Amino acid sequence: MKEYHILSLSGGKDSTALAFFMKENMPEIFEQLELVFSDTECELPETYDYLNKIEVFLNKKIIRIKPEKSFDHIYQIYNQIPSITKRWCTLELKTKPFRKFLKENYSDGIAYLYIGIRADEIKRIETSRSTDVIKECHPFIEYNIRKDDVCKILDSSGIGLPKYYEWSNRSGCYFCPFQTKINWINLYEKHPDLYKKAMNYEFKKGEGKKKTDFGWVMGSSLKELIKKENIKAIKEKSKNKKKVIQNSSVKLVEIF
Ligand code: SF4
Repeated sequence: MKEYHILSLSGGKDSTALAFFMKENMPEIFEQLELVFSDTECELPETYDYLNKIEVFLNKKIIRIKPEKSFDHIYQIYNQIPSITKRWCTLELKTKPFRKFLKENYSDGIAYLYIGIRADEIKRIETSRSTDVIKECHPFIEYNIRKDDVCKILDSSGIGLPKYYEWSNRSGCYFCPFQTKINWINLYEKHPDLYKKAMNYEFKKGEGKKKTDFGWVMGSSLKELIKKENIKAIKEKSKNKKKVIQNSSVKLVEIF
């Protein structure tokens, strides 16, 4: 039976560090390794830049899987933007296209899927999704690689962190409903065009076919969020939160 080795990149630090780690520590597998990115087509510009950089640094092409239908098309079908409780985006834009890609390309063998879950995140692996033909592998857990080690791997390889880490703590779509208010404000300041694009998806009761009020952020529309007084309050709150964390002995770089 054929064997395939696939690393699914998220555009974030852990999966990227895993690719560099495998190059150094698992060179035979790295030779055959295929880097795959599920592109929602709604990622931050910094993510696309980072992916291009990864290709150069690793001298490997990244396979970019795209959904058959665009976000806008699927949104029309669901008639609702994604939310924390109705997370159709991941299923439609990432999971389904990725499953299809695996089925179309690797069903004549065993596909080993390398995942960048770190040793300090072991709880994230509640149940293995491995099957007879798809095997999940967690090298960071096997080699006890933790958060600090990931940063060291990226530093020493020269690639560093993705640029969006300067203002955001997460990879993914620019409109992600899981982002915090300060993240939204940072998006507004860094990419006002994307913020406005997200704002245009919000609607009010009675508009078109939509039956309920709906926005990306709990309790506020994006239009409200960028009122001067709200920006000030959100920034203040975020600063205080950082102070509390700095004063406790917890050392985290990514608090927003
Ligand atoms: S990054 Fe956020 S919006 Fe994009 S697919 Fe994932 S959960 Fe959905």
